[in-house]
Amino acid sequence: MKKAVITGGAGFLGSHLCDKLLKNDIAVVCIDNLLTGDISNIEHLFGNENFTFIKHDVTNFIHVPGEVDYVLHFASPASPIDYLKLPIQTLKVGSLGTHKALGLAKEKGATFLIASTSEVYGDPDINPQNEEYWGNVNPIGPRGVYDEAKRFGEAITMAYHRYHGVDTRIVRIFNTYGPRMRLNDGRALPAFVSQALKGEDVTVFGDGSQTRSFCYVDDLVEGIYRLLLSDEHEPVNIGNPDEISILQFAEEVIELLNSPSKIVRKPLPIDDPKVRRPDISKAKRVLNWEPKVNRREGLIKTLDYFKKKI
Ligand code: UDP
Repeated sequence: MKKAVITGGAGFLGSHLCDKLLKNDIAVVCIDNLLTGDISNIEHLFGNENFTFIKHDVTNFIHVPGEVDYVLHFASPASPIDYLKLPIQTLKVGSLGTHKALGLAKEKGATFLIASTSEVYGDPDINPQNEEYWGNVNPIGPRGVYDEAKRFGEAITMAYHRYHGVDTRIVRIFNTYGPRMRLNDGRALPAFVSQALKGEDVTVFGDGSQTRSFCYVDDLVEGIYRLLLSDEHEPVNIGNPDEISILQFAEEVIELLNSPSKIVRKPLPIDDPKVRRPDISKAKRVLNWEPKVNRREGLIKTLDYFKKKI
């Protein structure tokens, strides 16, 4: 049986990856310091003999006994509110943490996959964004701690590939939603849902004309799994190209929840990207992948999860 190490395995995406790999008969060692991850995301796996959990901060040396076939580096605060609160931890896990995870992959001869992000494109001046675009990033703004850490993560991953011959993958993840998103991570969807469920005002930042493109988590995880099993070393965008303005998105959530909430405007955060939409032609070509779940379907499943949580 093959074995994977997943850093950040108790987080939103990490925990869904644990499920996906276990379902495909790959044993999983999940490493998480539970800074933004949550044990409740992986509790259901504790009876599984192919699953191990290690509470550890991956900015320190990572020790995993025995053979390892895959290392997936998903540890990082990942919402704007989280990395505003945890700027140093965000920089450290993207730099020191990526270095340690790459060191583990090199030592074990494992395939390494790093969770990168559409944030490497910054506030993009092309839309949609393809993998050849280098981005428009402010290194010293509040989002810089995340964006630059992830850009460094890509750079060191390519360096380990080129200079140490490590078999590496880079996935650029666009906005993703689904069960196990944290209710209080400040992201648009959890914020809108908890406000709408409580009948509170729904806070749209700026005039709400900024766009995002939301991918349901099952689609995303399938794309990452295919990338892991491919032999593509250069970055691949994974996301859903169905673009929507944040104002429309808030209206959709209110309508789906049949909520009496009203929309109110709040100031737009610094460097908030005005547009974001993945060009997924490369994922289609190289991985034969495209998203299958439309927003309405995905939102209904996610809203059910949030309702139970609240
Ligand atoms: N946003 C909003 N209200 C909120 C939270 C977020 O209008 O209560 C906006 C935010 O300014 C951004 C978009 O929704 O334009 C998506 O924000 P999110 O934090 O989900 O992720 P981002 O794509 O900015 O990383």
